[in-house]
Amino acid sequence: MTTNFSYTFDTPVYKASSTLNSGLFIDGQFVDPVQGGFVEITNPATGKVIGKVAAGTKEDVDIAVQAAKHAYKTVWGHKVPGKQRGRIVSKIADLVEQHVDELAALESLNTGKVFTVTKNFEILGGVGTLRYYAGWADKVHGKTIETDEKKLAYTRHEPYGVVGAIIPWNGPLVGLLWKIAPALATGNCIVIKPSEITPLTALKLASLLNDAGVPPGVVNIVVGYGHTVGVAISEHPLIEKVAFTGSTLTGRKILEASARTNLKDVTLELGGKSPNIIFDDADLEQAVKWASMGIFFNMGQICCAGSRIFVQEGIYEKFVPAFTAAARALAGSTGDPFSATTQHGPQISQIQFDRVMGYIDSGKNDGANVLVGGERLGSEGYFIQPTVFTECKADMKIIKEEIFGPVAAIIKFKDEADVIEQANDTVYGLACAVFTENVSRAIRVAHALEAGSAWVNCVLSLNDNVPFGGYKQSGIGRELGEYALNTYTQVKSIHVNIGQKL
Ligand code: NAD
Repeated sequence: MTTNFSYTFDTPVYKASSTLNSGLFIDGQFVDPVQGGFVEITNPATGKVIGKVAAGTKEDVDIAVQAAKHAYKTVWGHKVPGKQRGRIVSKIADLVEQHVDELAALESLNTGKVFTVTKNFEILGGVGTLRYYAGWADKVHGKTIETDEKKLAYTRHEPYGVVGAIIPWNGPLVGLLWKIAPALATGNCIVIKPSEITPLTALKLASLLNDAGVPPGVVNIVVGYGHTVGVAISEHPLIEKVAFTGSTLTGRKILEASARTNLKDVTLELGGKSPNIIFDDADLEQAVKWASMGIFFNMGQICCAGSRIFVQEGIYEKFVPAFTAAARALAGSTGDPFSATTQHGPQISQIQFDRVMGYIDSGKNDGANVLVGGERLGSEGYFIQPTVFTECKADMKIIKEEIFGPVAAIIKFKDEADVIEQANDTVYGLACAVFTENVSRAIRVAHALEAGSAWVNCVLSLNDNVPFGGYKQSGIGRELGEYALNTYTQVKSIHVNIGQKL
């Protein structure tokens, strides 16, 4: 049975209660899953179970898709002018902003993310994304195309109808808003699966949608496991497009499901092994700070984490101790995500904790040198010390595979040609960063690296109006910016005969 349940936060940074509904959100209301399943929610800072919410299956996805299809035909899509859709998306932004502390608290409780960081970067960041796409809602249009004087040809950018969205646990609400915002602005209805590990903020958001004026069926949120709800979304014949964020392994399955079923359009935001390149002439202090943020932000659980740090010979001896000191300082600020002084929290789950510790062991066994970290922090929850490896070789697992944890590998390099080759020696291509005071070299290297985003003298810098996505096995398509609108619309060409006679 779906029920209301509450959390009371009595923390240094937030004191209030939050009430949520545990059901699936379908056709504008919370409902029980057909098979009555549920999923347990854990607080990663303690490792303790803190509740359970409904988990759907294929049948629930089908009900949600039917509701979305009906809404698309009757109360959304072409039935609603872009301006009005934009107003509704704006209203969602207003309500998320009004609940920013509550949403940040739920997110921190469910993920172990630091409360203030979650509030300022993720939840308010998501509000910005909603507002950005709200502005686009009445500006999505095609072109008139000159052919000859007897014909008028033009294009329309039409919504798909029902789109699916599958979200990972590392940015639960922001990842979801990155998909809802362009989907709704372009006139689509959406069926969303949050990660089964982190559904709390999605459920809170669901409770705000009716007040925002979102018609029933336009947004449906079906919590559940990947092998049930995720597979059902990726195989559903009435879903015309799936926007997926997650691992490359799962991304491949989504594409296979599309190929097997209705050839739905697929966009993929996948994993990474991003290079961060520090040249001899870089501003050392700045490079250390940015590089530390690049790998340790969100405990390394970031798709575009700068996990391979290439440092040129001439600055290596200065960079390594300074970077190690930064990692040590971060370890000293580990603790309760709700403390105002905490900067480093836990990994998301026991599974991820074991996975990251496995990579640390493999680095040690392969002969890399642990300069700092490499161990568990504390005795409860899933905390791991910020870890720095040197003496790394190209064929080590810690260099080749995405770790998704607070583990940096530092690699010494000689010159520009050498580092470009090493940096590009990966199946991934999500992001890269270059630190140098030489603007020509910065631009040359940024252009030579095989990645969807290249940062010069900064890292992890994202804007709502700048596209984000991967080269190679880091993804297909782009999120954010005007570019993402193309991934939520299909182009219709219209040919009007204005004089040709047969
Ligand atoms: P994951 O691939 O295990 O899961 C992602 C989502 O897919 C979850 O909701 C999961 O339940 C679902 N899923 C699992 N199996 C499925 C299947 N067979 N069919 C359909 N859905 C299925 O990834 P994760 O562990 O949740 O997240 C970490 C990964 O996400 C990392 O690899 C990270 O790099 C990537 N990521 C990428 C970006 C990006 O923008 N490129 C952003 C965040 C995370």
